[in-house]
Amino acid sequence: MKLRDDIVLYGKLAAAELGYSTCRIEVTSGCFQKCRGCVSWRDHANRKMNASLNLTKVQELIIELCRFSAFEHLTFTGGDPQAWFPINDFLRWWTRGFNHSGVRFQISTALAKPISEPELWNCVDRYLISLDAASPEIYSKMRGDRDNNMQTILEHAKVLTEPQLGFMITVRKENQCEVVSVIQCLDRMYRTSMPNIRKVQVLASIGSLKGDLDNKFWDKWQTDKEFIAKTIDVPVSFCDEDIVETREICAAKETESIQCWTSRLSAHIKPNGDVYPCCLIGGEAIDIHESFKLGNIFENSLKKIYQSYPAKQNYRNVFCKKVCQYKQLQINLAGGKAAGTILSIP
Ligand code: SF4
Ligand code: SF4
Repeated sequence: MKLRDDIVLYGKLAAAELGYSTCRIEVTSGCFQKCRGCVSWRDHANRKMNASLNLTKVQELIIELCRFSAFEHLTFTGGDPQAWFPINDFLRWWTRGFNHSGVRFQISTALAKPISEPELWNCVDRYLISLDAASPEIYSKMRGDRDNNMQTILEHAKVLTEPQLGFMITVRKENQCEVVSVIQCLDRMYRTSMPNIRKVQVLASIGSLKGDLDNKFWDKWQTDKEFIAKTIDVPVSFCDEDIVETREICAAKETESIQCWTSRLSAHIKPNGDVYPCCLIGGEAIDIHESFKLGNIFENSLKKIYQSYPAKQNYRNVFCKKVCQYKQLQINLAGGKAAGTILSIP
């Protein structure tokens, strides 16, 4: 696996153990939708993970994150951050009351509701907006949401004129026939009214580990990919450079000594304050794996959690080998390489 140049740099950062560089916070488990493959809304409904962080705690957390010298990426996710009741108060504080220079802030959302204070929401650097289907029927079926469809979501997004917009299409068998139509629509918007679309990410729903994607699925995936490459201007990533190679590397016996260097760079925080090393085992829309919990922000500072973690937890755990994905695996490999390299100047 050829390591990406930017990831080699992250590997160095991980090996230097300078603290968190990136943090995803599930500010609430609440959501306006009930997506087919998602575990989060089910956990919320059955009260397994039914919680929201309070505004003061999130502010304290971010002040602490900004004290880590390497910290530069903050993401709000959920649930859906739109369903987090103090979101506008938070944005007011973020934009007017707190010096966060150098930190890029992203909100991941389905944009299921209109934006009430666009001037605040326009101060966020980036959005990642889920949009899985073009036809209202399939949209509703995929996302368990009868109030919305592609047009309403795009209408909500229209007020976001300043931030960079990413759209994410999570593909299952049920909505695969919609992928080209969604991208064509976003391409029209990109060329006319929404030049701030940064990318469209097309993601096979492998995170759900359902293993239900057969050759027919991948053949159509390939055909769509080639068609899009020839006909579309908006940047599209099919996020599939990883799938086969990553799974092969993860399955190999030699990888048992790979350590989780991702945990030396990233924190994934749940709405109840639990901290995990990544969103894959922290259960963002998939099952939570509590044995990987590193601590809780209501009991310890993030610094203490970072320092007390048995560094570089090994990779032998069967669950990690099943779910670790391209970017995480690359960071783990890059961290291992960097840790074994002695730099000398000159
Ligand atoms: S995937 Fe996201 S938007 Fe969909 S139900 Fe789950 S938390 Fe809500
Ligand atoms: S899935 Fe990968 S990145 Fe996440 S904890 Fe396991 S080894 Fe680390």
